[in-house]
Amino acid sequence: MDTARSHASSLTPTSMVDVLVPVALDQTYSYRVPRGMDLKAGDVVAVPLGAREVMAVVWAENAKPDPRLHNRLKDVSEKLDVPPLKPELRALVDWVANYTLSARGMVLRMTLRMGENLGPERMRLGVRLVGEPPRRMTPARHRVIELLSDRLLHGKSEAAREAGVSSGVIDGLVDEGTLTVEPMPPPPAPPMPDPDYAQPDFSGQQRAAADAMRTLAASGSFHVALLDGVTGSGKTEVYFEAIAENIRRNRQSLILMPEIALTGQFLDRFAQRFGVRPLEWHSELSPRTRARNWAAISGGEAPVVVGARSALFLPYADLGLIIVDEEHDQAYKQDDGAHYHARDMAVVRAHIAKIPIVLASATPSIESEVNARKGRYQRIALPSRFGGQHMPQIEAIDLRREPPARGRFISPRLAEQIRYAVERREQALLFLNRRGYAPLTLCRACGHRFACTICDAWLVDHRFRQRLVCHHCGFSMPRPNICPHCAAEESLVAVGPGVERLQEEAAALFPGTRTMVLSSDLITSIETMRSELNEIAEGRVDIIIGTQLVAKGHNFPRLNLVGVVDADIGLGNGDPRAAERTFQLLNQVIGRAGREQGRGVGYLQTHQPEHPVMKALVANDREAFYASEIESRERTGYPPFGRLASLIISAGDRPTAEGFGRKLASVAPLDERIQVLGPAEAPLAVIKGRYRFRLLVKSLRSVDLSQYLREWLAAGPKTTGNLKLEVDVDPQSFL
Ligand code: ADP
Ligand code: ZN
Repeated sequence: MDTARSHASSLTPTSMVDVLVPVALDQTYSYRVPRGMDLKAGDVVAVPLGAREVMAVVWAENAKPDPRLHNRLKDVSEKLDVPPLKPELRALVDWVANYTLSARGMVLRMTLRMGENLGPERMRLGVRLVGEPPRRMTPARHRVIELLSDRLLHGKSEAAREAGVSSGVIDGLVDEGTLTVEPMPPPPAPPMPDPDYAQPDFSGQQRAAADAMRTLAASGSFHVALLDGVTGSGKTEVYFEAIAENIRRNRQSLILMPEIALTGQFLDRFAQRFGVRPLEWHSELSPRTRARNWAAISGGEAPVVVGARSALFLPYADLGLIIVDEEHDQAYKQDDGAHYHARDMAVVRAHIAKIPIVLASATPSIESEVNARKGRYQRIALPSRFGGQHMPQIEAIDLRREPPARGRFISPRLAEQIRYAVERREQALLFLNRRGYAPLTLCRACGHRFACTICDAWLVDHRFRQRLVCHHCGFSMPRPNICPHCAAEESLVAVGPGVERLQEEAAALFPGTRTMVLSSDLITSIETMRSELNEIAEGRVDIIIGTQLVAKGHNFPRLNLVGVVDADIGLGNGDPRAAERTFQLLNQVIGRAGREQGRGVGYLQTHQPEHPVMKALVANDREAFYASEIESRERTGYPPFGRLASLIISAGDRPTAEGFGRKLASVAPLDERIQVLGPAEAPLAVIKGRYRFRLLVKSLRSVDLSQYLREWLAAGPKTTGNLKLEVDVDPQSFL
């Protein structure tokens, strides 16, 4: 072994590198650098891994692997022709992995999602008619010559397609000297956003905020601003000024949005301000667009990127500004693969890259609100709506005193108001955060309730799809005509409302109106959603019936009335963030009303009008809500005054999951600053046939909870068989 080592090292003074592979592994691997290849940290390479060749990123140069391994080390196969990952991005990958206890490779993977066709686009070839017709003429050759008779350069594959011939026919004509092959000129670069294309006339209040935005962007240093403006105050117009300034400074800007808010309306507004649409990044890009956008981002040709949370991890050539729109939105938390909160990690990225970041919201998260109150974030406020529009007036409808008719869900007062609105040619929105027709189906004869066979959940009746569906695993079955339990016929009843059922009720209550249901399960792509939202914005719908899909970011000019069918839905589930969530969601959805003309009104159908959330909404008293919620978090030590982490244990059977949870809890290192609660059966006790238990870890704010968890888990029992342990630092969901 020893001689082999000296032999190897004397003959090959090669350098070594450690590379990180974008798969679910935490450690780096050492490879030899072949002669003539010059590798630096951050370079993207291809390496052999097992039987495969995989992409990887050089994480450390001059690696010093275990000498005993030298002989077995393999060579880096290739250095790929893409820009290296900058130190700030590598530091972000390490930071996020360390904080969330995710494998570093998993985090790295998010930076390298460039799709299939890596590297620069292939040179496109064109053909042109230059010479004599070929000696042997065929009908296919004739069609090609006719097509090219203008003697202009045509794309080669397009010419073959248009003439209806194979590329071999074209090649034959090239061989004969009839055609020549020439490179096609590159497609023209997309036009650049123009920071001075169309600046709006700001109100006094907006101007002050816009000035603050420009100063922030020009500072070029780490700085967090909370752009805290009521719905309709012009937050978007205002943060566009930060982007304009950043464009003038020739640096890239990233606008993060909750996925569903990435609407065509937003892209158009951007174009109205800057002359062109920004580059998009989300899960529905075609592989080709993804590859092209990735290249534009890493090559620095995309000045502004608007994207869903995963856009945070892209390798920007020179990121100078981050905007997080609707910063309070739950959609920023990713709960599969790596558990991370994109807003928080965006602040981390800004800190590492030493750039400014703007968090925008009408209802800031408690975390951001507390940071602003403590002066850690600069608050830039827009306390009133643009153009003198009033905030919607909100009334509670006490369902105990004004109940809807039997089997109905819209109370008489709300129905009457909707009727008036429609008569005035205004739109009304009925909001209910429940997909499908009814959340439960039961047999009137025997009481049988339809539940998923592999989840602890009722099956939801979906009438459009004509199936009963499990919302947790996707299992579905046709709605039967007879009860499978007692064989009674025509005995099944739908219990409770979903948006589809509300549409039925609206059609009965308001004959002759045009209704539309907006619900994620009815929307097949971002494109269909964009076209449906357009129909609403153009006024081709009278009554919109929607889930939280409609709450976010849309402008519907004629919408003045919002009726919340069940304002209590989110409150009673024991989730520590229930009050915050409900306040934010209801505020946001009612904020759709009265944005452009007329007075907006909101109705909250509730069984608990005295609840602090309902009272704050009705009184339009945000401060009261934040004061009571912050006080309660502080008293109970919940975030941001303390830290939380969840450990979610699941297994194919209950005793295994529970037993593992017990064992894990019993070896938790003792620390008086840290409480380990549980294991408790999860509220969603079974998902996809897996039994779930949860441990909740709660600590003082000063504790490095990630480090504590790492040490605990390293010393604790190991998952074997089909046991699975998920770590969720800063959990948002407690199900
Ligand atoms: P927010 O994001 O705060 O809810 P928006 O930025 O969507 O508010 O603005 C609400 C509406 O008011 C939009 O239609 C927007 O175009 C319009 N608006 C805001 N500020 C101005 C302005 N200064 N000039 C013209 N229109 C404006
Ligand atoms: Zn299920």
